[in-house]
Amino acid sequence: MRCRFTAAEANEKVIIPHQETNCLSPMPEQYAVLGNPVSHSKSPLIHAMFAAQTGQDISYEAIEAPLDGFAATVRQLREAGYKGCNVTVPFKHEAFALAQRHTPEAATAHAVNTLLFADDHILGHNTDGIGLVQDIQHNLGLALHGKSVLLMGAGGTAHGVILPLLQAGATLAIANRSLDKAEQLAASFHQYGKVTSSSYAALDGHVFDCVINATSSSLSNALPPLPEHIFSAGALAYDMMYGRQTPFLEFAARNGAATLADGTGMLVEQAAAAFEFWRGIKPDTRPVLARLRT
Ligand code: NDP
Repeated sequence: MRCRFTAAEANEKVIIPHQETNCLSPMPEQYAVLGNPVSHSKSPLIHAMFAAQTGQDISYEAIEAPLDGFAATVRQLREAGYKGCNVTVPFKHEAFALAQRHTPEAATAHAVNTLLFADDHILGHNTDGIGLVQDIQHNLGLALHGKSVLLMGAGGTAHGVILPLLQAGATLAIANRSLDKAEQLAASFHQYGKVTSSSYAALDGHVFDCVINATSSSLSNALPPLPEHIFSAGALAYDMMYGRQTPFLEFAARNGAATLADGTGMLVEQAAAAFEFWRGIKPDTRPVLARLRT
């Protein structure tokens, strides 16, 4: 299953360089997002808007890889001349294993959401945390330095956001339904900053400046068992889920969080970081974010 937006569809006023010239013009360089399922992905639209805005001659499509066929799909893309791909659920750990080299973000996360196909190797990167921190600090205007952050969840995406949160100067507590995973995750990041683990029950009596839902609980309209008094005065409640009201954001609104945010900004910012990683040019995320929000 493939779904593709061209830059022209993203912005009808944009002239695509290869369409302006003759038939000897090079084909656009090809990128894709691989996932299963992936038909819901907004990445083709986002990257088409970035390409239109920056004048980059690329194509970008959503490709559903078979659950047992991620590596084979990547091989086919490389053979077809693709330059890279994004990776989403459930392939981020497989993508990490497939990459022969890793950026520091990917190496610490043990998860990859962006692959760059070089001639002789595959380079794995992780832009989830870069996108989250950019959204909180730049788009929402909330500095993380010195702030206490509760990160709920210990899955693929939580892995990717810990290092950038610590690098931004936050102190981190990780809570997860399966406590052993939170403990292992916290232990593996000790060297990078102040990070602890907790069960949900043990959070009672603690408050945080920022509470981030990196669980997939919102997908099933569930809410992790948070104590009601978890938000400090002025706290941010951030749900990585996007495009719908979630039980966590409703809980946060009822229990005193000052700012509520869904994951739309993170989605656009992690895409921008991937685009820059591939193309060496940073797109302006503001118009893209505004378009997605309407
Ligand atoms: P994973 O499947 O890797 O991890 C799921 C996590 O959620 C686990 O820690 C799991 O706990 C926990 N969990 C699941 N259900 C519940 C529940 N009912 N109560 C408490 N905890 C629960 O998912 P990902 O890390 O890939 O994705 C997490 C979320 O982030 C998703 O909602 C996804 O849509 C979103 N996301 C958003 C992005 C963006 O750009 N905005 C980018 C990527 C992801 P346990 O270990 O105990 O099973």
